[in-house]
Amino acid sequence: MRWFSLILATTLLGACGGETSPVQESIDIVLVGGTVFSGLDESPIVADVGIEGDRIVAIGNLDGHPADQRIDVSGLAVMPGIIDIHNHAIRPNAARSGIYLWPDAENLIRQGVTTVIGGPDGSSPLPIENDFQKLEASPATVNYGSFVGHGTIRATVVGREDRIATDDELEEMRAEVRKAMDSGAFGLSSGLLYAPGSFAPAEEVIELAKVVKPYGGIYISHMRNEALGLLDSIRETIRIGEEADIPAQITHHKVMGAPMWGRSTEALALVDAAIERGVDVSSDQYPYPASSTGLPAVFPRWSLDGGNKALKARLDDPEQRAKIKQGVIYSMVNERGGNDPAKVALANCAWDPSLNGLNLADVLRQREIVVNIENAAELIMDLQYAGGCSCVYHAMSMEDVDRIMLHPTTMIASDGGVMAPGNLRPHPRNYGTFARVLGDFVRERQHLPLTTAIYKMTRMPADRINMTDRGRLEVGAIADVAVFHPDEIIDKATFANPHQYAEGMYHVFINGEAVLLDKKMSGVRPGRVLRSMGPRPQE
Ligand SMILES: [Zn+2]
Repeated sequence: MRWFSLILATTLLGACGGETSPVQESIDIVLVGGTVFSGLDESPIVADVGIEGDRIVAIGNLDGHPADQRIDVSGLAVMPGIIDIHNHAIRPNAARSGIYLWPDAENLIRQGVTTVIGGPDGSSPLPIENDFQKLEASPATVNYGSFVGHGTIRATVVGREDRIATDDELEEMRAEVRKAMDSGAFGLSSGLLYAPGSFAPAEEVIELAKVVKPYGGIYISHMRNEALGLLDSIRETIRIGEEADIPAQITHHKVMGAPMWGRSTEALALVDAAIERGVDVSSDQYPYPASSTGLPAVFPRWSLDGGNKALKARLDDPEQRAKIKQGVIYSMVNERGGNDPAKVALANCAWDPSLNGLNLADVLRQREIVVNIENAAELIMDLQYAGGCSCVYHAMSMEDVDRIMLHPTTMIASDGGVMAPGNLRPHPRNYGTFARVLGDFVRERQHLPLTTAIYKMTRMPADRINMTDRGRLEVGAIADVAVFHPDEIIDKATFANPHQYAEGMYHVFINGEAVLLDKKMSGVRPGRVLRSMGPRPQE
């Protein structure tokens, strides 16, 4: 391999250069004079970066080294491409969505994201192999890897009823997990807040998590409750990782609902205590004090038993509707409702797009109904009955967001997807997550150092899923590289106007090919399917 000789050359040259390289073969691209961040939380160096084919072949002084293309990146930061470990690039129930609809993934590229890991929150396509093959046949810009979703598996094998799985069903679910791991999944995701994942006891999840162990997989969970039940949910997540003996990750770690604000201290103390006794626990987080998910998240668990049809039948029954309403009111007051109808905004009501962008208070006012929690609960039940909506819930405090971000086991992930401007009113995290951390949290607020932020979005998620050739800027690694101006990088997407690309990203290379050059999308789609490189179980 040719890059071996260049490694030698680079070693001889050292970071400061001075000697002449013994290798004078032309390489494809040299990024000249940038401030190079390795992906580890360590000081950057000013150096040239050589790319040949899909690899980084040299880091050092490449002055005068023949190259097909030299790009002056002096004054710019050169970092490994970002790995978004929680991304909804493929929506399992929508045939053409996300990465298929917008394979250029410009919302991600303009933040420097080069790899997305899908299948989060217990929800993945099944089998994951079909989408792997589709993307291999027709690549996107970004690389794609996946978890396999417990919720999807349970829906397929057990159905949507609130009951314990039989032994046969458990065996069938194990087989589904095994099949996905054989295809190269990075582990098991759960969404224990969402039906039907919510109907599973921890014991079931533990049994399925054990299946990913011999593959070196991890367990990543949207927990059962992120509000009043937060601490118990963290204990449950830790227990599942501990008993299955695999790494566990609290995904989009947050503290939901005003009664719990400030208690991230206790949440993180549970993480620390688990690590102390040898459990491998981590978190990921998006940098906003608002979340986003479908309306069923504010319905009581029991009301979702049997799926949406069963829920609608219950809403038709006055007695049951009254009971459901109490549950919705509870959630509005204590959990993601933020105790204020104005704090729940409608992001996407597919059946009536004119609602998109309004909050519950707006809709009540439009309909000349008094704005209060009770009427908001009625409205929520009506909206769900009519077809449902995804919503943005403003129910977190920045103090908790800030504290969780600083914890050494927290990485950054978007929980967004692949998106392009349209008439929905999605969460701005889709367009802004990583640029917001680099621009707002690092530069404007000086909340954490740039090196730490870069580590949390590159090397840290790569290490978490045993990805040894990406998430790092070093000789021999795959050339996924993002180049941005540290004084210019910023998110522009807001809750009111989310369809705005981040600014300050200059060049992005994926597998050695420029997908963004001088701030222009190149139209090239070099993305690959990334299958786990973990061990394989012995036959
Ligand atoms: Zn989630």
